[in-house]
Amino acid sequence: MITPKNKKYAFETGVYRPPNEGGSNSLLIRLTRNCPWNRCTFCGMYKTEKFQVRSVAEIKQDIDAMAAVRDDLAALSQRSGQGGAINHTAAMALIGKNPELNHHQGFAMLYHWLLSGGKTAFLQDANSLIMKADQLVEVLGYLRRTFPSIVRVTTYARSKSVVQKSLDDLKAIRRAGLNRLHVGLESGDDAVLNKIQKGATAEIHIKAGRKALAAGFQLSEYWMPGLGGKARWQDHAINTARVLSEIDPHYIRSRPFRSWPGTPLAQEMAEQTFEVLTPGEQLRELRLTVRELSVTGRVCFDHAGNFWKNSLGQLLFTHSYEGYQFPQEKQTVLDLIDEGLKAGRRSAR
Ligand code: SF4
Repeated sequence: MITPKNKKYAFETGVYRPPNEGGSNSLLIRLTRNCPWNRCTFCGMYKTEKFQVRSVAEIKQDIDAMAAVRDDLAALSQRSGQGGAINHTAAMALIGKNPELNHHQGFAMLYHWLLSGGKTAFLQDANSLIMKADQLVEVLGYLRRTFPSIVRVTTYARSKSVVQKSLDDLKAIRRAGLNRLHVGLESGDDAVLNKIQKGATAEIHIKAGRKALAAGFQLSEYWMPGLGGKARWQDHAINTARVLSEIDPHYIRSRPFRSWPGTPLAQEMAEQTFEVLTPGEQLRELRLTVRELSVTGRVCFDHAGNFWKNSLGQLLFTHSYEGYQFPQEKQTVLDLIDEGLKAGRRSAR
């Protein structure tokens, strides 16, 4: 970990956050390090790292360090007659006085967040709801008071952790300022969930999703087209659509399966015990999932893994973070998929 020599500016930043939190230049606040579960067979994110919950005092120190950067940038801007506006000149002046900031792992993130208006924040790493509710409430209150410009705070959460929290605790966390949960559903098919060692069943996912909604959170669920392979693509599609329909979250986000080198699932592919779908087969599976979906939220393809093209060679789906409004745009999405399937058949001839 690279921290600046000037302790005043020392804070930690984790590696991962959802793409839309990058698009909105979210402030990244690290509450825990790595993943407390770390067993999903497709995932290589934190495999060699040990999980740790950071203390509230340590997290508050990080927030103070970020506030110090903000305040010193504003003071330098004021001194140079720019009215306290945080801009390139102020950043260069601060780096000039503290050259080690050039190597600070979070300075660029913080500076761009301030430049963009300081509106959204994301709590890292893989499952902030593993923290005790009162600690989470304390951190959220401190963050919101220190940076009053924040209008939205989001985090990753495991379904199991949501289920294990009481509804009252979830409501308290929501009231303290956590707005949205990003949950990795991956599949609604129990056989697939068991095989990939998700540590959750379809029932747990449904309970967690409904509980999160009852507590007042915005909910973003991620599913992984292709995760059932050739053996279970239909069950994966139908059961995932069923579970997502029973939850009816605000956002459903497609993250097509791609092999991650070094993971147990990549090993199964090498041993041919897991047969991956071709891109066309994955799109056919996606069609079945979308056809079966009965939801009122937004379905999004906001990741490069949704690479399918139409006959003009353009991306089939918008990669916008807001995607398509269901059910109004369900037919549009089905038509796009049909166009992609047709284009795939033509290029295969
Ligand atoms: S819970 Fe998330 S971060 Fe942890 S192993 Fe599973 S997919 Fe990876």
